[in-house]
Amino acid sequence: MDLKDYIRSIPDYPKKGILFRDITTLIKDSKVFKETINQIVDRSKKFKIDKIAAIESRGFVFASAVSYILDKPFIMLRKKNKLPAETYSTDFELEYGTATIEVHKDSITKNDSVLIIDDLIATGGTAEGAAKLVKMSGGNVAGFIFVINLFDLGGCDKLKEANYQVENLIEFPGH
Ligand code: AMP
Repeated sequence: MDLKDYIRSIPDYPKKGILFRDITTLIKDSKVFKETINQIVDRSKKFKIDKIAAIESRGFVFASAVSYILDKPFIMLRKKNKLPAETYSTDFELEYGTATIEVHKDSITKNDSVLIIDDLIATGGTAEGAAKLVKMSGGNVAGFIFVINLFDLGGCDKLKEANYQVENLIEFPGH
């Protein structure tokens, strides 16, 4: 099974010039979804993991299933004003705009080794924001796993240059 075959590509969404890589076509097939989760679990064996953090909202789809299988705590990194208790907050640049993500102050404790999971890495702004939240919380970034890497947009290279360990299941060009 080639996971790439199950990603739908939609030109000019949500803005002209963006080639949107749609994972709904991957997760609507339960066998393919299961295979994707199994592949992430397999890659996660390379990391020392205390907790798993994911980025709202497509990151949650994959990371919660992985947390369940690995029996690790699941941490939600959410968009601004979604978390009810005290938060750490950071702004970051997106491929198509800017955004803010937040984490509850009591989600990650000092020296926790946190694996960050998301559906896709493009420019890497979101991933860097996620890493910043983990560090603001006193944790360490164990590494990153992405279902899709848009390799020519440079996000993955940027993370590797910053000495993060990164695993990607699928490689696609960004345009
Ligand atoms: P970035 O911060 O540029 O690495 O963007 C990554 C985040 O934006 C991920 O959470 C993706 O879900 C979303 N994203 C960015 N570009 C695309 C794209 N071309 N297709 C689908 N999702 C995207």
